[in-house]
Amino acid sequence: MRYAIGLDLGGTNLKGGLVDQTGRVIFKETRPSPARGSSPDPIVDALIGLAVELRQRAQGMGIEPEGFGFGPPNFLEGPDWIQRQVNNLPELEGFALRPPLAAALGEYIAMDNDVMNAALAEYHFGDGHNYARAFFIALGTGIAAGIFTEGGRQLRYVSGWTGDTGHIIVDPHGRVCTCGGRGCLETVATGPAIREFALAAARTRKSPALAARWVEAGDLDARDVTDAALAGDEAARHIWEEVAWYLGIALTSYIHIFDPHVILVGGGLSEAGELLLEPVRRTIAALGSPYYLRHLRAVKKAALGADAGLVGAAALILLPESPK
Ligand SMILES: [Zn+2]
Repeated sequence: MRYAIGLDLGGTNLKGGLVDQTGRVIFKETRPSPARGSSPDPIVDALIGLAVELRQRAQGMGIEPEGFGFGPPNFLEGPDWIQRQVNNLPELEGFALRPPLAAALGEYIAMDNDVMNAALAEYHFGDGHNYARAFFIALGTGIAAGIFTEGGRQLRYVSGWTGDTGHIIVDPHGRVCTCGGRGCLETVATGPAIREFALAAARTRKSPALAARWVEAGDLDARDVTDAALAGDEAARHIWEEVAWYLGIALTSYIHIFDPHVILVGGGLSEAGELLLEPVRRTIAALGSPYYLRHLRAVKKAALGADAGLVGAAALILLPESPK
């Protein structure tokens, strides 16, 4: 059996774990991402520190990992992995991440964008490989997609990734987005957007369950909306319906462009399950072109959940066809 260590760097958490060649996580660890600063040093130190700790723990079990895979939440340029479009970790902008990692950990290291990694994991170790064309979308603090075409080829269009798929326009009269555009999917179908919908429903007391939860917890998130909806709160269920409407609009456009056989929905918001997916399927059925809808066999929750990013990072080392 072959093993590698995968690290998934997010704006909120740094996750790492030991993964085998079948995609199984042997052990893992989550810690908060380094506090915001002006220098990339704390992030570099945190990545190397966790990587070394995980390797020692593996060696304590008699396992020698083959290398380290990394997944930052932005894209990277060139052989030195210069970090670009770093909305969640601005101190990394323009920083060449490969040289310090290679100096500390050796040459068996690999890096790709976190959502590209998650898509890689869902394709090879989840359900994606059972379909000729698979479309994976991760819904979290931000939104991004990874797309597989025939033969398991991962679509890379600009800067080594799929493109800024979270910024497809779904509501031209909607809110200004963090990207500077207006009405992007990210303004209505991310964790921060759902938090705002939930707070509005609590403040106006349209949702008694969310209003009560708000008093109790002082804040609200997507999980509170799910809990309230499952307990029968109509306004909370309506929030998921609204999110699903916009997500369904976006996905229908992607279906017309990429003609997938399956859509795998991952990221933290996919925990809402059928509260989100059932109205998404309804929206796609109402809006889509029958020609493309005939090819689409399933819209479902991705299999690996929160581990997908770290499994995919390790897969950069373990899978022969992945970029090194
Ligand atoms: Zn945008």
